[in-house]
Amino acid sequence: MKQILVTRSSMPDYEEYCEEIKKLWDSHWLTNMGVEHEMLQQELERFLGCPHVVLYTNGHLALENVIAAMQFPEGAEVITTPFTFVSTTHAIVRNGLTPVFCDVNPEDYTIDADKIESLITDKTAAIVPVHVYGNMCDVEKIAAIAKKYNLKVIYDAAHAFAVKYKGISSANFGDASMFSFHATKVFNTIEGGAVCFPNDALVGTLNDMKNFGIRGPESCVFVGGNAKMNEFQAAMGVCNLRHLDREIGKRKLVMEQYWSHLDGVPGIRLCKPQRDVTPNYAYFPVVFDGFGATRDEIFERLEKHGITARKYFYPLTNSFECYADLPTAGKEKTPVAAFLADRVLTLPIYADLALEDVDRICEIVLS
Ligand SMILES: *Cc1c(COP(=O)(O)O)cnc(C)c1O
Repeated sequence: MKQILVTRSSMPDYEEYCEEIKKLWDSHWLTNMGVEHEMLQQELERFLGCPHVVLYTNGHLALENVIAAMQFPEGAEVITTPFTFVSTTHAIVRNGLTPVFCDVNPEDYTIDADKIESLITDKTAAIVPVHVYGNMCDVEKIAAIAKKYNLKVIYDAAHAFAVKYKGISSANFGDASMFSFHATKVFNTIEGGAVCFPNDALVGTLNDMKNFGIRGPESCVFVGGNAKMNEFQAAMGVCNLRHLDREIGKRKLVMEQYWSHLDGVPGIRLCKPQRDVTPNYAYFPVVFDGFGATRDEIFERLEKHGITARKYFYPLTNSFECYADLPTAGKEKTPVAAFLADRVLTLPIYADLALEDVDRICEIVLS
């Protein structure tokens, strides 16, 4: 039986990658901000139209470091959503901060900006919203709230690489944005990530944080960790970036094929295209609400046919065991997110998914 997973990593031709890494056999320079790292950083700054990009070995450490770089007081509160990958919440908690969970809106599943203000206390230091599924948060409303209450905004943009709002890349909102370049994301460097931001002063801080605080052979100015992107990762990124437009174009066709089968079916809710947003077709979430079968039944049926969908995002991060003792946890505090988590399934989507396979997946769902 043909197996179809929820995603499949984009890769350049084997020969293209070999050509890119050939120079590493000449230089024997494998990591520590080598030529591929510098090239990828510059190309991303250009591609994203962003003043600064700092590369990381993965997206999680990028998020953890940029939150740390803001130097919030111990125990400060950070408003975020539970409808995300655990990494978002972990990055807040691992910095000694308290996540305060805001509900999501029922249209695009991003943070409900109208509910943020009621959660602000004198301890609130920041908002960490998530452009979930590549859907853009209400960046304008969030910016206005942040300004009014003097809060930092750090976007988890792990899903939103190459997404634009009114022609501006998702990298350019808030104080900083984090991208993940994990193998499962729209653009990958095998594992990898980046922080994007406008503030010149943050460049040195993040570079210290990702490389032990070492400034020279005899100088260590900061107690940093190690989160550098290596040359093989960066080379994969340089190659994948060349083909990104084509890959996103192919994802678009897959998305359109799904819509042609599932749009308007009673009991099935799809994420509508957002106004003024150029999408990246990263995920295809379907909400089953009053459909002839439950989300779990459809998940099982697809599994029987060799098709792996994912219950993204179930459970919510505010109901994981590791947060049982957190006073702000509890899915009852975020009812819209809890409703979605019980009913959503992300169906397979990737550039090379055959349209006939989409037909077959939809046939199984609809049967
Ligand atoms: C993938 C992901 C991360 C973490 O990125 P890694 O590169 O896997 O460390 C963080 N947040 C969200 C929403 C993600 O999907």
